[in-house]
Parts: sequence; C-alpha cells; structure tokens
Amino acid sequence: MLKVDCLIVGGGMVGAATALSLAELGLKVAVVEVKQPSPFDEEQQSQAVFDLRVSAISLASEQLLSQLNAWQQIKDWRSCVYKRLGVWEDDIAYAEFNAGEIGQPHLGHIVENRLIQLSLWQQLQANSNVTLLCPEQLVSFTQDESQVLVELSSQTLATKILIGADGANSKVRQLAEIGITGWDYQQSAMLVNVTTEVGQQDITWQKFSAGGPLAFLPMPGNNASLVWYQQKAEIKRLAQLSNRQLQDEVHQHFPKRLGKVEVVNKGAFPLTRRHANDYVKGRVVLVGDSAHTINPLAGQGVNLGFKDVAALQTVIAKAIGSGENYHAEHVLKRYEKARRMDNLLMMTGMDAIYATFANPSTPVKLLRNIGIFVAHRAPILKSKALAYACGI
Ligand SMILES: Cc1cc2nc3c(=O)[nH]c(=O)nc-3n(C[C@H](O)[C@H](O)[C@H](O)COP(=O)(O)OP(=O)(O)OC[C@H]3O[C@@H](n4cnc5c(N)ncnc54)[C@H](O)[C@@H]3O)c2cc1C
Repeated sequence: MLKVDCLIVGGGMVGAATALSLAELGLKVAVVEVKQPSPFDEEQQSQAVFDLRVSAISLASEQLLSQLNAWQQIKDWRSCVYKRLGVWEDDIAYAEFNAGEIGQPHLGHIVENRLIQLSLWQQLQANSNVTLLCPEQLVSFTQDESQVLVELSSQTLATKILIGADGANSKVRQLAEIGITGWDYQQSAMLVNVTTEVGQQDITWQKFSAGGPLAFLPMPGNNASLVWYQQKAEIKRLAQLSNRQLQDEVHQHFPKRLGKVEVVNKGAFPLTRRHANDYVKGRVVLVGDSAHTINPLAGQGVNLGFKDVAALQTVIAKAIGSGENYHAEHVLKRYEKARRMDNLLMMTGMDAIYATFANPSTPVKLLRNIGIFVAHRAPILKSKALAYACGI
C-alpha cells in the first residue's frame, strides 16, 4: 500500500499548486485526478484557438506560480498582460485603474485555465516527491489519530493529511461531513471567445448594465474573452443561438468600444456561492473551490485558491521548522484562521456589488454612479482597492 504525507484529491489549478508547494517542503505527496488535461498543441497555437475557460491571474498568483516554476512556461505558451482596468455603468461615471498607481508594471494576465494546470503538471511530473494518480477517483476514506485510509477506484492509500482540491462539488467535503452555506445566483454567465477588429489588449473592462455586467478580457492577438452575465433564462436563450446570431446580439448589447467582433466559441456557466463551514476537520483540509466558490464578477476565484495554497504552505513549513506535528488538527487550523476571513470578505464584497448593481431603482443607480465617479477621483482609496484586487 502506498503511504504518503499528503494526498490531494483534485489536480486542477489549485490542487496541482498545493501539491508542488508541499513537495517543495520535502513532503511525499500524491495527487488523485479524474482526467488528464489535454496537451498544448502547437498547431492550435498557430490557429489561435483559445479555450473558453480563462482566468484573470493577479500579481500575487503570478508570484506563487513563479515560485513553483510554472510561470515562465505559461508565458512561453500564451497569455495576455493587462495594465488597465475600466469600470462603468453610465459613460459619465467611468473609473479607470492603472498599474502605475500601485507602482507595478502590470495588473495581471489573462490565461487559459488549462495552460496553468498543464504547466503545473509538468512540474509535478518532474518532481520526485510527487506521485500523480490519473485517471483515478476518490471512493471513500476513514481517519483515526494516526492516519487517513483512502480508498480510490483501483487502490488503497494511507496518508497523514487528506486535502480536498476537488472543486465546488467536493466529494472530500461531503465525505468529511463538512457543511456549507451558499446559494445559486439568479444570474448565469456566458463566456464568448471572439476575434476583434479593434485591438485593446492592455485593458480589461466591465460595464454594468440593466441585465448584468458585460466584461471584456483581452487575449493574445486581436482576440478576447467576453463574459456576459444575465438572468438564467436569457443565458439559456443566448446559448441556443448560432455563432452568427450571437454575434449580432453582442454588437447590440456590448458597449461601442468593443468594436466589431466575430464569435468563435461560446459556453454557459451557472453561478454559485458556497462556503465550507470548516476548512479543516481532523486530518482533512479543503483548499480552493472546495472550500469557497465565489461569484466570478471580479475574477477572484482561483486567486483566492492560490492564496490558500500559499497560506497552507507557510503554516506547514513553520510547523516543520519548529518541530511540531504539521498534520495535527490544531496546527492545520492555523491555515483556516489565516484564510477564512479574507475569503469571506471577498465573497461578501462581490455579493454587495452584485446586489447593488442588480437594483433597478433610480436613486440606487444614481448612488452607484456617484460611487464610481468618486472612486475614480480618490487616489488613496483607488490604489488601496487596486492593491487588494491584485492580492498585494
Ligand atoms: C464563468 C466563470 C469565470 C471565472 N473567471 C475567473 C477569473 O477570471 N479569475 C479567477 O481567479 N477565477 C475565475 N473563476 C473561478 C475559477 O475558475 C475557479 O475558482 C477555479 O477553477 C477553481 O480551481 P480549483 O482547482 O479549486 O477547482 P476546479 O477547477 O474545479 O478543479 C477541481 C479538480 O478536481 C478534479 N476532481 C473533482 N472530483 C474529483 C474526484 N472525486 N476525484 C479526483 N479528482 C476530482 C476535477 O477533475 C478537477 O480537475 C471563474 C469561474 C467561472 C464559473
């Protein structure tokens, strides 16, 4: 029977980063993942066919990915750096945030999720402390004072810590009987990959409109990922349109600054909020979306997950350094203490923005436009908000 220090269920972006960060500490790590990410295809690169799932990677996440030796490969493949962030509802109240305001060369990068995962996997495969078990699935586990016995589809493993990085519907969380608070939002999101006539690759912007936000995320070349938030029924209707019909709808509803586009690909995603009541229970630890799923309004989901990774690594490194049992519940709870409030704040902040902009009343609309107007002209407030969003 394979025995490891940490078993991570879920080899997505957060699970893979967790595995590397703990292997860096000299721990023996195993990763269980259902499906392998498809390889990066050079031919696909030349045809500029982008994945639908992309993330706005913050400066803090970039730092973590660099530390894990995964960032350079991502940049060598493809990503789009942005230096400005624009937000508005009515044109008169436009706020623009600039990297220079926080003394940084850029605000972040838009990267395809699969490329982040793939680059981390390359590092996992090269790391002698890591065993990758894929395709493999979690079936059940039991824990006692000394270990967790984990039953997978084709084998049984013993581990000191079991880490759930298995996403919003985490099986680890369910089997550990960790409850959640949460709900499904009225809105869904439609992701639309487009080629653009107008190049505006150094900015990401979001316009709040009556139905929901309309966001522009730049991709390399004259490409972009559009995020269209709307009521579920409307997203369902949009998802049934042909690319050509959707293109007409985009021209009709997105702001003029987008210019002419051609729709290449599209997909609809439900929006949920979930927050685990505990991040640590005995020897079980939750990270990333298994612990918290947030409204993607400000593109913070995986960035919060990467902050979990950094916090867990720090807690375990300190415990090892001071000769403590790093797998003891009271030690692992320090990780939860470090992360819960920050995650909750971000989730609540997103919900406040969601609720404020979903309110159609004229006084509320006036107030939020004043808010954006003032934010644009208050340099200290602006740079603080920007630094927080960038995770620095
Ligand atoms: C529309 C939309 C836009 C978004 N935009 C952004 C953005 O711009 N920036 C940002 O930071 N975040 C964004 N997010 C959020 C981000 O996508 C998630 O936070 C992120 O994918 C979570 O990563 P994860 O590794 O925790 O979970 P996941 O990506 O869900 O990965 C979980 C992994 O676990 C595996 N798995 C599941 N169950 C099992 C099992 N039983 N056994 C083995 N393996 C298992 C899965 O196959 C998967 O690989 C967005 C989300 C949505 C819906």
